This record gives sequence, C-alpha cells and structure tokens, in this order.
Amino acid sequence: MFPQNIDLHCHSNVSDGMLPPADLVARAAGQGVTVLALTDHDDVAGLAQARDAAKELGLCLINGVEVSVSWGTHTLHIVGLNIDPEHPALVAGLEAIRAGRSERAIRMAEQLTKAGIPNSLAGAYQHADNPNLIGRMHFARYLVAQGLVKDVRTVFKKYLVKGKPGYVSHQWADLADAVGWIRASGGQAVIAHPGRYQMGSSKMHELLEAFKAAGGEGIEVVTGSHTPEQYPHFANLAQKFGLLSSRGSDFHAPGEGYRDIGRLPPLPDMCTPIWQDWDCK
Ligand code: AMP
Ligand code: MN
Ligand code: MN
Ligand code: MN
Repeated sequence: MFPQNIDLHCHSNVSDGMLPPADLVARAAGQGVTVLALTDHDDVAGLAQARDAAKELGLCLINGVEVSVSWGTHTLHIVGLNIDPEHPALVAGLEAIRAGRSERAIRMAEQLTKAGIPNSLAGAYQHADNPNLIGRMHFARYLVAQGLVKDVRTVFKKYLVKGKPGYVSHQWADLADAVGWIRASGGQAVIAHPGRYQMGSSKMHELLEAFKAAGGEGIEVVTGSHTPEQYPHFANLAQKFGLLSSRGSDFHAPGEGYRDIGRLPPLPDMCTPIWQDWDCK
C-alpha cells in the first residue's frame, strides 16, 4: 500500500492553474505528495510533461482531467482518473468543449464591455498560457491585474457568477457522455467538489443516481473546496450510494485560495478510497 499523501485534483497552466506541469509536479513532490493526478479542465495537454517530471522525482503520476458538464441548470465538474489521454472519444469530446470555451469567452467579454469593462477578451487571453482553454479565471486575473478588483475571489463574486454582469450561461458536455468518454478510455469518473453545487438533498440524490447509472464510480469527499464539516456528510453519501471516495486539493496557484497541493486531511475511516486497487508504478 502507499503512504497516504495522495492528491488527485490540481491544475497547471494548461488550464487555469499558474504553474507549468513540471513545476506543479515539483511543488507536489516538495510537499511530500507520493501519488498525484493532474486534472486540468477539459484538456490533457500537460500530462506528458508532468509524467517526465514525475519520473525524475519518483512520484506516481495519474493521468487525469476535469470535464465541464451541464446537468439541467447545473454546471458540474467530473474528474476522470487513470484515463488514456489519447483515446479518440475522449480527445474528440474535450476538443468540442474547448471550442465552446472560445465562443463563450467572446460572449463574456461583450457582457463585461456593457458593464463598463472594455477589452477584457484580449486581456483574458494575455493571462491564458493555453489559448485553447480560456476560462473565467483568466478574465478574473486580468481584472485584478488592471487594478479593477482586489482579488480573484471578489471578481467572481461581483462579475463572474450566475446573475452577475460577466456571467453567460453555457452548454457544456452531457453528464452521461462525459462519464462515457472517461470510462471508454479506461478511467474512473469522480464527481468533483459536490459541496460546491447549489443543490438541495433530493437534487443531490438525483444526481448521484444519474451519475451511477451512467457508470460513475467515485466522489470527492476531502477537497480544498469543502469545509471539514462537509467531509463526513459526503463520506456518508458515498457509502449510501456505493461510491468510492477521492481526495484532492484543487490547487491552482501559490497563494490563490483553496488548499495548497498535498495539504489535506486523510479520508474519513469509513470511506473506501478510489485508489484501493491501483497499481501505482
Ligand atoms: P470556467 O470553467 O471557465 O467556468 O471556470 C471555472 C473555474 O473558475 C473553477 O475551476 C475555479 O478555478 C474558478 N472559480 C469558480 N468559482 C470561483 C470562485 N467563486 N472564486 C474563485 N474561483 C472560482
Ligand atoms: Mn479552475
Ligand atoms: Mn472544479
Ligand atoms: Mn478543479
């Protein structure tokens, strides 16, 4: 069995993190992480570099991705672990989501212009190291860099969440499709940070049923997006629905909110870890 510093959710500058994949892996190793999944939003382009760095540093790198999904009126994130980044269905699905991101960014910038913030499209792209993966975080960093808002958290609150001027609704992947691509590529699908979805308990149960029916296997219990009070709540739901439990920081950038990489408490004892049968080399 592994020592327990396992972090199965983080972002590099291939999506909306700030560190290049190799630097991210080095930071994880420095924090004592032994098993790391790189889970960039809707892109797997960082995995090869991360793997080279992990080999050098002697940590186990799990191929991951965090897929953006629309489920009814909700936007959800589904993490894929141990995926094959070259699987054609997964590659095509992620490519379609990225194309939607570019189109959404144009609409976001139009909305922000109307709200009195011009030029945000070019500005956001200046902050996107991977132009194919433009997202809200890049807009947020641009507004902060312009001195318009004090930090990214405040930008989201004032401009980028539902009901605010820079928010545009968007159709992401279908839940069953996303789980299907992950599974087709040999991976396990995990519901990311369930505590962040604004859902009552019956809606959450409905989601867990739909996710299981689609072939989903896991749920994040310990994540940088949950409060410690939420750990036992989601541990109970995992048990009730027969889901494996995952643990990940959702690290994006040094000093930018959430937990640092590899700095999370262990899963509650009642959980069955998603990594229980992994053969990590
Ligand atoms: P997108 O996929 O482009 O809609 O952006 C979603 C990303 O924005 C998440 O993965 C987080 O990195 C970030 N994010 C979402 N909500 C917030 C928030 N309230 N505060 C800070 N960052 C957020
Ligand atoms: Mn993100
Ligand atoms: Mn997420
Ligand atoms: Mn994430």
